[in-house]
Amino acid sequence: MKQRSAIQIIVLLAVVLLALQPVAAQSALKDNPFFKARNTPFQAPPFDKIAKEHYLTAFKEGIRREQAEIDAIVAGKKAPTFANTIAAMDHSGLFLSDVSAVFYALLSAETNDDLQAMARDLSPLLSAHNDNISLNAKLFARVKAVYDQRQKLALTPEESFLLENTYKGFIRSGALLDETQKARLRVINEQLSMLGLKFGQQMLAETNSSRIVIDSPAGLAGLPDSVRAMGADAAKSLGLEGKWAFTTQVPSMTPFLQYSTRRDLREQLHRAYFMRGDRDNANDNKEIVKQIVGLRAERARLLGYPTYAHFVLEERMAKDPATVMAFLNRLWSPALERSRNEAVEMQAIIDREKGGFQLASWDWWHYAEKLRQEKYAFDDKQLRPYFALENVKNGIFTLCEKLYGLKFIPLGNIPIYHPEVQVYEVREASGVHVGLLYMDFHPRPGKRGGAWSGGFRRAYYEKGKRVAPLSTIVCNFTRPAAGAPALLSIDEVNTFFHEFGHSLNTLFSDSVYRGRSVPRDAVELPSQIMENWALEPELLKLYARHYQSGEVIPATLVEKLKASSLFNQGFETVEYLAASFLDMAWHTVSGDTATDVRSFEAGAMAALGLIPAIVPRYRTTYFNHMISGYAAGYYSYIWSGVLDKDAYEAFKEKGIFDRATANSFRQLLAKLGTEDALTLYKRFRGAEPKIEPLLKSRGLLQD
Ligand SMILES: [Zn+2]
Repeated sequence: MKQRSAIQIIVLLAVVLLALQPVAAQSALKDNPFFKARNTPFQAPPFDKIAKEHYLTAFKEGIRREQAEIDAIVAGKKAPTFANTIAAMDHSGLFLSDVSAVFYALLSAETNDDLQAMARDLSPLLSAHNDNISLNAKLFARVKAVYDQRQKLALTPEESFLLENTYKGFIRSGALLDETQKARLRVINEQLSMLGLKFGQQMLAETNSSRIVIDSPAGLAGLPDSVRAMGADAAKSLGLEGKWAFTTQVPSMTPFLQYSTRRDLREQLHRAYFMRGDRDNANDNKEIVKQIVGLRAERARLLGYPTYAHFVLEERMAKDPATVMAFLNRLWSPALERSRNEAVEMQAIIDREKGGFQLASWDWWHYAEKLRQEKYAFDDKQLRPYFALENVKNGIFTLCEKLYGLKFIPLGNIPIYHPEVQVYEVREASGVHVGLLYMDFHPRPGKRGGAWSGGFRRAYYEKGKRVAPLSTIVCNFTRPAAGAPALLSIDEVNTFFHEFGHSLNTLFSDSVYRGRSVPRDAVELPSQIMENWALEPELLKLYARHYQSGEVIPATLVEKLKASSLFNQGFETVEYLAASFLDMAWHTVSGDTATDVRSFEAGAMAALGLIPAIVPRYRTTYFNHMISGYAAGYYSYIWSGVLDKDAYEAFKEKGIFDRATANSFRQLLAKLGTEDALTLYKRFRGAEPKIEPLLKSRGLLQD
């Protein structure tokens, strides 16, 4: 598609909207579900009534209403107070939030060309709208007036935190800049939002078009039946009946790399994966990343920070790039050494088998699997039957009931955006409604890769009454193969627990205001802590049952699983840390970078001494985290890892299902984002988090 400038799009859109106005005003409003009070259960979005033609009008109206609400705050005759300024701002934009939540959830989970085109059209409108608020000098003057008298106001901790963050948010958005600088900032913001969108869309196109197709059974050598069946299904859905296809989606790629004895095909598939966005084709992302990084650096300089990482990290628990780099470096050497040893062990197998080649990145999964079978005498195939999706889901429900007394009730009367979506009502032990949980498990062409938790509404209080949240979990888990339920890998089991933790955070949230500010490096605490329970023998007994025989996973298998918990941790840690360093490298560049993306990345990795058999977990051209939300923040997962391992120690000390500890942890989840994260953490744990439990859990500490 030809690229148009953002300004052209605004003009075009304005013309279109003007032309449509008379009709839109009557019929569209009458039928548009966004304009009606929701009469669905729990005021859930009426997906059965929402059609693509409803969005644009609704977005436009949402923008208009929020602007009118802001104008009314600014025009207020009374002196600025917390209630008439900060609380009023927090309460503005509800209509727009509802529309955005639905639209952007679908843009990730169930997209199509129409939605993608609309997203490109909306991006400059929303970017300009946000700037109209954050660069509104009169609004800022009112916020500042409240902020300046904060000592004299009797505010709750949540209110103080909201005020502080609202004020800082204005400064960080450029409220103190002169008019010329503000104008430049608006252009930068608009370009960044367009470029970010384009990056994601091209990445999806690349992922969908990157695969290998196998014509004859010779290409299936080494693959177990279940993997062959999956390949046949994938080919069928591509219209290639009678062949086998393996895509660069992780559930398809990983088993192929693990089991295929065809080294040439492993190489083809892995290359297809790690060259996404870097093939010099129409969907190449190199130029886009360069522009994004350049614009981010410029924005940081404009706002008075040496680099974009300095700008971002000021708001994090880590505070500055030096702290992040010192933290990453502390982990790097022991992890790299571990991964080198793992590579040596795999090379020994290759040599013993007279392979006659050096271990390469496309060999890692294959020989890691062999090594695991050799050392721990079990493989992924043996485990999967104990982890049918339904059983894992029930295991998580059981855990939540034991910890928090929660009940999960399946609902059939909530409108859904795809027939595969399941909805549950979450209730307290007392029967009190907590919120809704939507779950959408399997890959589809319209879904982006990975797994995430989001929502259609966050919790807050309206006139003293709690508005309950609507949380979502979206995954790309292995589909059921013919004749069997979906059988998950251990990674997928962990992912499910992980995303469920994010959802619990959303469901437990108990803040009066909608505005919350969770530092990115604390965001993964609620999710990662859940992974600790996934393979605890006490819990496994309750959910890991063979999907055919119903037999509980044998204790010997659990022991092997535990014994193997440090297996491949060198690789896992190194590929993750390499991506974290790469993210920091891109965001600590100052000035304009006319850098060539490939050589920049290669240089950053060479400086680390990364071994050639490991590719960073995400290369630049498909590093979606770094582009959308985790810029100078990919390190957050392992930073949160320090928190989650240390927090889990509390459960280990008191018993992994201890209700009192769980209640205290729930308080932390309920308040996260409404008070300083470290303060909340210390209130739960009684002390600062320690790094040792994390190092130990990854085998990076000798004891
Ligand atoms: Zn997460």
